[in-house]
Amino acid sequence: MIRLGSEILKSELYFFFVVVACVKTLFVRRDHNFLVLFKNTCRYSLYTRTKLGYIFHKRQIKKARERYPAGHSKTQPTIINGIKIIPVPILLDNYSYVVIDTASNMAVVVDPADPQPVQACLEEEGVALQAVLCTHKHWDHSGGNRALKRRYGSCRVYGNAMDNIPGLTHPLSDKDTIDFGTRLHFRAFYTPGHTVGHVIYLLDGRAIGGPSSLFSGDLVFLSGCGRMFEGNASTMLSSLDTVGSLNDETLLWPGHEYAEDNLLFAAEVEPCNVVREQKLQWVLQQRGQRLCTCPSTLAEEKQYNPFLQCHSQDLHRALGLQQKQDEDWTSYRARVLEELRRRKDIYKDR
Ligand SMILES: [Zn+2]
Repeated sequence: MIRLGSEILKSELYFFFVVVACVKTLFVRRDHNFLVLFKNTCRYSLYTRTKLGYIFHKRQIKKARERYPAGHSKTQPTIINGIKIIPVPILLDNYSYVVIDTASNMAVVVDPADPQPVQACLEEEGVALQAVLCTHKHWDHSGGNRALKRRYGSCRVYGNAMDNIPGLTHPLSDKDTIDFGTRLHFRAFYTPGHTVGHVIYLLDGRAIGGPSSLFSGDLVFLSGCGRMFEGNASTMLSSLDTVGSLNDETLLWPGHEYAEDNLLFAAEVEPCNVVREQKLQWVLQQRGQRLCTCPSTLAEEKQYNPFLQCHSQDLHRALGLQQKQDEDWTSYRARVLEELRRRKDIYKDR
């Protein structure tokens, strides 16, 4: 239940942060477009730092349920040696993921922003929810944490303490492991950039004799990456490098269904990529029937996701960038990422 009056009073403090953020926008980022930045910064601060963001989120849930009563996409479970991964379509284009060990009936859920369809899935599967694994604080990822914790008494909520995760019970640090029984072994990687405390979760495939699964939140999507709301390009690059260092067989389960837009953008910056073109054709076919496009593999992503290719000379040429004489390789790759993200922001603002 929202205690609207008291929360708005409490938000006076938050407005202080809004003002600080706005002043930073005006004076630190001397951009000719500062009014747009000013407006966006105010809006972002209200969304993330006040309960007004939660009220907005509840309205988004209502809207999405009216528009897509059965969910925005049709999904199917993937079963890997008794581990069942069920994408749950929520809001307009988000996915939560229910992960079940069918041998023990233990379940965890990643980013349950709308608790209702997640709970329906858990009940249909007849499983007990052990934990919420939350990638970051944005309401479209964390908005259902508290409701599920209330519904499932012993449910733990994992995430990074820097991100102000609703209902957080178990704060995580980089590379912490989280085990549920003998087969569900997750490792959390600290991947800031989209938010200051963004975390991704890797389900270890070795314990189940299959590929690992990466739940990447808003860090990496099929052929895309998240916006850099709370970090610069160097920070984001380092987080993307974490993904790049993982095994090629790893399955990618992102936080949003953005495949079609992302592949069309990738086609603009790299028109002659055969692998990307084939994937685009497949995605268009899937989306024509409103079918889910997850998972892809990291081997595929490394071939067509431009945000994982900041080292590529083809990409440098396409963006018209060259390494400066006194510029080290990492700084140059960060500059490539910054330019790529800038173009993506113009192409489509997400
Ligand atoms: Zn987000």
